[in-house]
Amino acid sequence: MANPMENNKAVKMLRAAEEGGYGVVGVVSYNLETIAAVVKAAEAKRSPAQILLFPWALHYSPLLIHLAAAACATAKVPIVLHLDHAQSEEEIMQAATYPFDSIMVDMSHYEKEENLEKTERITKYLHSKGIATEAEPGRINGGEDGVKDTGDLEGLLTTEEEAKKFVNTGIDFLAPAFGNVHGNYGGVENIKLDFERLKGIRSAAAAKSCLVLHGTNTFPDEIMKACVKGGMTRCNVNDLVLYKYNKYVAENTGKVPLTELMGRGTELIQEQIEHQMDVMGSTGKV
Ligand SMILES: [Zn+2]
Repeated sequence: MANPMENNKAVKMLRAAEEGGYGVVGVVSYNLETIAAVVKAAEAKRSPAQILLFPWALHYSPLLIHLAAAACATAKVPIVLHLDHAQSEEEIMQAATYPFDSIMVDMSHYEKEENLEKTERITKYLHSKGIATEAEPGRINGGEDGVKDTGDLEGLLTTEEEAKKFVNTGIDFLAPAFGNVHGNYGGVENIKLDFERLKGIRSAAAAKSCLVLHGTNTFPDEIMKACVKGGMTRCNVNDLVLYKYNKYVAENTGKVPLTELMGRGTELIQEQIEHQMDVMGSTGKV
């Protein structure tokens, strides 16, 4: 019987990034403007890209998922659809009925052993459906709009041993905690990444899982580049590509026609995504 994972587009995309030494932009998307901007940027830059949805989308409206899937299916360059931070089995089972290329099985709010057990079991199930998986060993602190905050739980840095254990569950992508946090750092001077630790994690994950980066709000280009050099094959971006859009919308809603608000808003997101494609080195790769 053919392996359902054989043609998984997300695995192919991130393996190619790893071999090519570049990173793919994973754009956290909440609306049409963002999804349209991903497609426009990827096509303009001849770059691969990923559309990231949070489980919020499952509850808000499946139409957003269908829109994102249609964007991937009709784009002239490879774009894949990823569900980030699915934090319950119920959500994951629901998500598996939609055309996601990959799903993050985020059981980081459970104790380590339980996290590993759940991750392995769910990964087997998703692989049987041809869907790639991602997990977070350790715990990346903080929350993002649409993702539950880790709350009182303490952030835990990923160790090499943990990375190995997680890779052995069969996951395709590993999101390490090495000083990165969700949400805001409260100033560039507070971004303190442990690249030595990342090096160890990378060799522990070698040849089995690709590394992916969470928590990039307010990252200067140089830090993003260092992360890609350190082995990150997909870098999630949220505020980094949305802050100009958010400011524009806040200042212009009700003052300009809705078509202009959407059109200019989309352009502002597209410009930022294109910039990140240059920074991560994915421009011209397809
Ligand atoms: Zn995350």
